[in-house]
Amino acid sequence: MYCLHLVVIFAPMKDKINNILVLTSGGDAPGMNAAIRAVTRTALYHQKKVFGAYRGYEGMIEDDIIELNTQSVKNILAQGGTFLKSARSQQFRTTEGRVKAASNLKKRNIDAIVVIGGDGSFTGALKLSEEYGIKVMGVPGTIDNDLYGTDYTIGYDTATNTVIESVDKIRDTASSHNRLFFVEVMGRDTGYIAASTGLATGALSIILPERKSTLKDLFNDLRKAQEKRKTSNIVMVAEGNHLGGIYEIAEAVKKEFPSIDVKVTNLGHTQRGGSPSTNDRVLASILGYRAVIGLLEGKANVMSGMINQKVVYTPLSEAVSKTTDLDKEMLTIARILAT
Ligand code: ATP
Repeated sequence: MYCLHLVVIFAPMKDKINNILVLTSGGDAPGMNAAIRAVTRTALYHQKKVFGAYRGYEGMIEDDIIELNTQSVKNILAQGGTFLKSARSQQFRTTEGRVKAASNLKKRNIDAIVVIGGDGSFTGALKLSEEYGIKVMGVPGTIDNDLYGTDYTIGYDTATNTVIESVDKIRDTASSHNRLFFVEVMGRDTGYIAASTGLATGALSIILPERKSTLKDLFNDLRKAQEKRKTSNIVMVAEGNHLGGIYEIAEAVKKEFPSIDVKVTNLGHTQRGGSPSTNDRVLASILGYRAVIGLLEGKANVMSGMINQKVVYTPLSEAVSKTTDLDKEMLTIARILAT
């Protein structure tokens, strides 16, 4: 699906960095391993030493850092999760934590880091850049697809494939028993997973953090479905929606429609795991490769992302502060096609 119009393996023009460190931070996402592999092998190809920090910023602070070679990243392309492990580090939010992290980088002559993660991880990395002049390259690794500066984030494609595989199974049992299923998917602040999988599974209604939907809207959708004699229905719910928890919503529906057999499924962490899809492996390989090339060319404090099948470097300050709106037409299409 991603065909990059890149023909030459070029020798980077400005070669201003010494050693590189790669880390994965925040929530894990399928394809992070493929990105680590791409960063490592591209750096080695260009005769740069490359290090990996375990457990994200925690490893940088606690000096849990290893030098990586070609063998270190063998057989990880198809593996979910991240072999370097990931963490949410409270210590890194403190000045003392970042002092330790910077000193552990300095002693290895590391002056550039590739951070594979989401907006929180990039915000942290920017602090290290402001305070210690470390050059930062971001690679968008999060199942949420909520970063500005890339059409897709690494992990999103696999996560949505996992969701539709489960919902297709739920649909079978829903239709055998004439049931209504509420399915909760990840998305605390954004509803990309819910919106696209809702469309892809024919969900009757999609409840998102970005939209102030009301119970009345949901009841109307259910009444319309009853009028059209739809016997099984799926309602896709993003975890950060404004109506409340999935059980609360289901209870309210049971009260309003006592005759409907209502069930609830929370897909939870199944969405994070699993072998990455082709799209995620390709995306991770290209963005990991271009992350290192960008650093060698003298780029810093940017994120390598893919827009319209071209690699684009977006300032990290924009990647973390701007948002891409959900495609409203996709929601309209989902609504029209489901009723
Ligand atoms: P996901 O999208 O999967 O949640 P994320 O990268 O946004 O990924 P966060 O938990 O928000 O995940 O951030 C990861 C880590 O980045 C935090 O645990 C913390 O160590 C660091 N970090 C986040 N914000 C800051 C900040 N303002 N200052 C310093 N470090 C930060």
